[in-house]
Order: sequence, then C-alpha cells, then structure tokens
Amino acid sequence: MTRLGMLIDLNTCIGCHACSVACKAEFDVPLGVFRDTVKYVEQGQYPQATRHFIPVLCNHCEDAPCLNACPTDAITRLPDGAVLINEGDCNLNRFCMAACPYGAIYEDPDKQVAQKCTLCAHRTAEGRQPACVDACPTQCRIFGDLDDPASEIARKMSANDITVWKPEAGTSPRVYYVDPRNALPLIESDGVQVDPSTDLRGDR
Ligand code: SF4
Ligand code: SF4
Repeated sequence: MTRLGMLIDLNTCIGCHACSVACKAEFDVPLGVFRDTVKYVEQGQYPQATRHFIPVLCNHCEDAPCLNACPTDAITRLPDGAVLINEGDCNLNRFCMAACPYGAIYEDPDKQVAQKCTLCAHRTAEGRQPACVDACPTQCRIFGDLDDPASEIARKMSANDITVWKPEAGTSPRVYYVDPRNALPLIESDGVQVDPSTDLRGDR
C-alpha cells in the first residue's frame, strides 16, 4: 500500500519561496492565507547570526486532530494517506482550525469554507509531483512512497537523522525534516496561517 509523505532537507532550503508561489498559483489561494509557506527564523547575534529557512505545510498527520474534530465529516483521508477537506461538506464551523496544532487550515474568504494543502492529490493521481516539489530549485523537497524502500524519500530518510515539527503534539506527521541545526523548535509563531512579517523573529 502506498503511503505518501514528504521530506524537506533544511540543509539546502534557500528561502526563495518558489514553493509557496507555486502552491498559490496551483490552487489560486487567496491573499493573506497559505497552504504552504516558508518561515524565516533568526538565531544568535552578529557575527554569529544565522537565519533559518523552514518550509511548512499541512503534515497529513497519521493521527490527525482536524479529521477527528470535524462534526460534518468533511475531512477525509485518501488510501495513500493524504488528508483532504471536501468543500461541499464544510459548513465553516472552524473546529478543524482549532484542532490543528500547526495552523495549517485557513478560511477561504471567497468560498466560505475551510481549506489547506491537499498534497496535490489531483497531480499525484496522474503520477506527477506536488507543485511545491516541482518548483523547488534546490530539490530540498522529496516526495514519494514512505513504504517503498527503493523510493528516493525512503532511502534519504534511512540515510539521515530525521525529525518532525512539534513532535510533542503526538500527531505523527508525514512531513519529515532533515534539521541538522535543530531549527524547527525555534519557530515562534503559531503555524502556517500567520502574517509572514511576524515570522522574522528569533533568539536575537
Ligand atoms: Fe490536520 Fe493540521 Fe495534521 Fe494537516 S497538520 S492533517 S490540518 S492536524
Ligand atoms: Fe526552500 Fe525549495 Fe521552497 Fe525555495 S522552493 S523556499 S529552496 S523549499
């Protein structure tokens, strides 16, 4: 059985936002909200200052609080593991938004429904990669079948130390990171749905 996931190597992310822009274009995401964005986190002081670039998106959690919280069963999981919101069944009660520890769900101001990353299910159904993966100029995002030992993602995961964002949330994310400088715990703002200008903070 295919079990889709993503691995993001923070060694090679350059913070260019090509992924976020590709996602915006793919889904015509409204201004001010995001399915996928990149956090900038600063650490230390000159001359030892560092800026970390950390792409974030819905983690398509194995144990997804959003899915359990939805009273209209608008949130479902595909056989490959992608967690989706069915717009037709959403009455915008916002329970899912409150339940997600990653702030991954936004309110679509035009359609008046909750929405988020779909892991580009429409593309993967045709054997293509998610738009963010295709757009990344450094190939730091690897997408594929976690259960296929021959897949690039499985090989890279077994060859590196990997981690997830907010492991303490206990959601078993399917978006993994190579994070050699331990940058993920430095994220201060709440999640994917924040004002990007407030993300430029850190231990200065
Ligand atoms: Fe649901 Fe949030 Fe997990 Fe995505 S990251 S599956 S929206 S709980
Ligand atoms: Fe990082 Fe790739 Fe996104 Fe650029 S496109 S910000 S390198 S993940």
